[in-house]
Amino acid sequence: MPRAKHVTPVLRALAREIDGLELPAVEKISESSQEDPFQILIGTLLSARTQDATTAAASERLFAKAPTPQAMLTLTVKQIEKLIYPVSFYRHKARHVKETCRILIETFGGVVPGTMGELLTLPGVGRKTANLVLILAFKSAKNICVDTHVHRISNRLGWVKTNTPDETEQALYGATQPRWWPMINLYLVTWGQNVCRPVYPRCGECALVKWCPRIGVEQRGGMGRKGRMGGTGRTGGTGGTGR
Ligand code: SF4
Repeated sequence: MPRAKHVTPVLRALAREIDGLELPAVEKISESSQEDPFQILIGTLLSARTQDATTAAASERLFAKAPTPQAMLTLTVKQIEKLIYPVSFYRHKARHVKETCRILIETFGGVVPGTMGELLTLPGVGRKTANLVLILAFKSAKNICVDTHVHRISNRLGWVKTNTPDETEQALYGATQPRWWPMINLYLVTWGQNVCRPVYPRCGECALVKWCPRIGVEQRGGMGRKGRMGGTGRTGGTGGTGR
């Protein structure tokens, strides 16, 4: 696939524009834990389809009790459920957290593995989570983490024309220069949470508007249109959730 149009100016603009905006929850967990792979992995698992503030609070409660796989295994699934509630699917996620810790200890010597293949053997870990762990914890420059925000905005910008986040990830490797790959998630998730929202994107206030064909955007938010609800972009989204 040829390089998409306007990728470099858009990403340069985003690098400037996100300065001062609220960071995504897992980025904050990465910073506060000094890039601890275990806390990044568990924080990413908790963040799926969950508001960032909820993920941040749940992670703080959980890691205060159990900052390592060994400590987590001493908790029951019920205790983990209580600590992470109200993240979405908290019962499911609590089981995955416990099982992940058991596998980390029994198979990987108590540490988070640093390859895509190994990460994908962990319960609840898909490419999105694995890519984010590789980028944040292992400083990989060869991965793009695609969540619902990256999928939606890449399609709106016309960089890709895809139906799923996994398709978007593969398309973005061809459409963008490798130097941007580790940053694409941070830039587009931050933009998706603040400006290019799933419904009523704030196109009237968007610094990217001159490069953006707004593919699939039926109704816009922004200046003077606050409070109205309505159409979604073609690729849709999950409504302000985290990664
Ligand atoms: S112009 Fe609109 S659709 Fe395009 S990136 Fe900005 S908010 Fe999103």
